[in-house]
Amino acid sequence: MQTADGKCRDGHFSALSTDHLALLFELIDRHAFGGETLKMLAITGHRLEFRLARRMTHCGGKTTTTIRPGKSQKSFEIAISPKLIFDSFVHQSTVVVTGVKCETPLDALTRIMEHEMLHLLEMALWNNSSCSRQRFKSLAHNWFGHLESNHRLLTPREKAVQQFSIRVGNQVSFRFENTTLIGRVNRITQRATVLVPDPFGQRYTDGTRYRKYYVPLGQLQRIA
Ligand SMILES: [Zn+2]
Repeated sequence: MQTADGKCRDGHFSALSTDHLALLFELIDRHAFGGETLKMLAITGHRLEFRLARRMTHCGGKTTTTIRPGKSQKSFEIAISPKLIFDSFVHQSTVVVTGVKCETPLDALTRIMEHEMLHLLEMALWNNSSCSRQRFKSLAHNWFGHLESNHRLLTPREKAVQQFSIRVGNQVSFRFENTTLIGRVNRITQRATVLVPDPFGQRYTDGTRYRKYYVPLGQLQRIA
């Protein structure tokens, strides 16, 4: 697969176009379903378009279906968030998408596209689709080996904001060896890096000495 600037090395790419999305869809369809999805779309007259949703940050992909009254043809749109895919790999070398560990952005994009393809197929065949229902989960597991039917691709930082309301810069407290420590969140990866002022700690650029703690997000209490 090539990108807009013509480069895709080892599953890493720097840009994405809707042509790439269409090509990926075609390849997945060919491998998983012998090309039957695109054939079905051609026979039924359903339309399929791809979109790069640059502002979409809450999930990696989204499939929408437009049904016009009195018409049997449906319009499908698969929107993909390039930002979320790229951002996910900035602070971590692997991300988990659909319950599957992804080593590269192309891996993650492929899992997302597989998930969206199932949404499209469910909508085309049954007029409804939900990835929290058993039918979807079985399809996702049987066809693609997905272990979770969840199309949210959150970076740890986004997860921290959404689940725990914790952001970089927040003042937080946490328990450590039977005392409560207060510090500031400096970095969020799988855990938060919290800097706690400590005369014996390392001197930072602001002139203050801090000791660094790696704290699971769920153990932080936000103070400010
Ligand atoms: Zn879904």
